Amino acid sequence: MTDLLLERNKLEDFKHLISQSKKKIAITTHHKPDADALGSSLGLKIILEKLGHQVSVITPTDYPDFLKWMKGEDEIIVYNEKNERYSEEILEASDIIFCLDFSCLSRINDLGDHIEKIKHQKTITLIDHHQNPKDFANFRYWDVSSAATAQLVYQLFRDLELTHLICADAADCLFAGLMTDTGSFKHPNTTADVFQTAAELIKHGANNAKISKLIYDNNTVDRLKFIGFALSERLVVLEEYNTAYFAISAKDLEKFSSRTGDTEGLVNYALSIQGISMAAVIIDRTEAVKMSFRSVGEFAVNEFSAAHFGGGGHKNASGGKSDLSLEETVEKFISLLPNYKEELNNTIKNYI
Ligand code: 5GP
Ligand code: MN
Repeated sequence: MTDLLLERNKLEDFKHLISQSKKKIAITTHHKPDADALGSSLGLKIILEKLGHQVSVITPTDYPDFLKWMKGEDEIIVYNEKNERYSEEILEASDIIFCLDFSCLSRINDLGDHIEKIKHQKTITLIDHHQNPKDFANFRYWDVSSAATAQLVYQLFRDLELTHLICADAADCLFAGLMTDTGSFKHPNTTADVFQTAAELIKHGANNAKISKLIYDNNTVDRLKFIGFALSERLVVLEEYNTAYFAISAKDLEKFSSRTGDTEGLVNYALSIQGISMAAVIIDRTEAVKMSFRSVGEFAVNEFSAAHFGGGGHKNASGGKSDLSLEETVEKFISLLPNYKEELNNTIKNYI
């Protein structure tokens, strides 16, 4: 499934592109960047800077505090009202635009509209592991079977025979993406290749224990109390459908002074319950109701999300949105489950 860049000629064209002259490069990643989005972007930035390029990372929105240790994070440009024109100027001045950890420009909001307008004058390079990439890139290093975009960044430089450029700071960023997108090397996407890449990154200086502490064991008291509250007051288990979900109101978020990233990982508590095939977190963000889905085994939550909540993602980890109220979204979600009852019943049975 990997395509284009793995073909020898394309790989050499790409190597030529990044090795010949100093370039202006912009790297962008998806809405609400997670550790893979940010880690692969900053890891790539550090590596490309070693080649003498001038590199900017632009994110469509802000990101959680527990990712702010990454080298170069302080230089990230967030495409908000204040930086809108500045971000556009950087994109316009760039020779190459990298798109990391997303497969269609609509995933990066208004920033995507801007790239759409200028894409024909730029060399667009996609590095990604999501389904169905749209056709907007000149170079694609894309593999849905890959666990993380960070892994693809590592493999790309290995294919280019340029791994000597990967310093400890870059390795830390890439390791963070690989660790989180595999659920700490737990999910079925944790292949021998993943462990191989993790080992290589540690050899390049990644400090795995430090990264794990910074990402997982770095809670604010508010966040931990919020999780306690959600578990005791907002968790609903629908045994009949092997499904568990949390519905979180805007008031709940306010009560615990919730910040970007505070709800991340909540869905995994629901999935950890015995007998559960699908878990969801349904949150009333002010702009829309946002949903996160997780599943085990064969139940494809990306298809579920695409069919009913305009979303997508991976087979076992996806997200979507709803324009209905929180209550109506929950009702809609529950009303869909009878159609999937048999699949949901069988999924967990076949998995273990
Ligand atoms: P999360 O639940 O962590 O926000 O998202 C899990 C995965 O689902 C992400 O890797 C992302 O690819 C995908 N995803 C999340 N929200 C959306 C969405 O609104 N639309 C699409 N197409 N994919 C999403
Ligand atoms: Mn990813």
